[in-house]
Amino acid sequence: MTAQTGEDPGGRFAGRTAVVAGASEGIGLAVAAGLVAGGANVVLVARREDVLAEAAAELGPAASGIAGDVADEKTAARAVAHAVDTHGGLDLLHFNAGTLLPGDIAGQPLDHVDRMIAVNLRGPITFVRAAAPELAKRPGAAVTLTSSATGRLPVPGLGVYGATKAALHYLVSTWAIELAPSGIRVNALCPGGTYTPSMYEAAKAIPGLEEATIATNLVKRMASPEEIARPALTLLDSAESGYVTGAVWDVDGGYQRDRSAG
Ligand code: NAP
Repeated sequence: MTAQTGEDPGGRFAGRTAVVAGASEGIGLAVAAGLVAGGANVVLVARREDVLAEAAAELGPAASGIAGDVADEKTAARAVAHAVDTHGGLDLLHFNAGTLLPGDIAGQPLDHVDRMIAVNLRGPITFVRAAAPELAKRPGAAVTLTSSATGRLPVPGLGVYGATKAALHYLVSTWAIELAPSGIRVNALCPGGTYTPSMYEAAKAIPGLEEATIATNLVKRMASPEEIARPALTLLDSAESGYVTGAVWDVDGGYQRDRSAG
């Protein structure tokens, strides 16, 4: 596991407390590391306790872990309660966890469909629900969610996964309206192909995936987790992004925008 925490000398998150759901590796860990580097206390959520403990230890005393599956609504309640009990409240939520089970829509086993809906949609719904009452007590509160470029453009074999991510964009627009009276901003990021442990696993299982991903963006490479985390941190920072809510930010290297080949 690596965490490129970087430096954030302004301490832009000083005095703030964040929950990052799906935080022990990859994009989620990079978001958590950036929050800690900016001075926040961070509650990390993930399922594997050993990897979670290692991530929290690497980030230092400002980080603590809550082990649980985001598909279980009790996990959201436990994470928010831990933030309030330990740090006195909650300012920021980043929901990052996601499950991708490939398959054509017609043939995909329904338990795979149910699992993607449970993690990718029910998960963020339970976290935003649990967090909103606490976020509403804090000025400058914000929620960000990791969506996917697949939620923007259809990819054969990723139809159900993409549909859960596209539905997340609808939720973000709706949450932005519903939570604006409470002073809570809600935004999403759509990463393109990013080097994370689960992407390395997928690339091993699907020959040509990495090459195809690189071929379909303008930058002609995959992203690092930190390149996705930095826009997330910008959105979470109300001094920088206080006028941004209901937005879905493509952080995908210009995914499938090269029409020059005809
Ligand atoms: P990642 O950033 O490495 O996130 C995985 C983290 O989430 C791990 O800490 C994992 O720990 C945790 N997690 C996964 N499922 C969970 C669950 N059900 N409950 C609690 N924690 C869970 O890896 P990633 O999967 O590549 O990407 C994260 C997000 O980015 C997802 O929403 C994904 O859809 C999206 N995304 C990724 C890419 C890409 O190329 N990597 C591209 C577009 C969008 P445990 O396994 O221990 O739970």
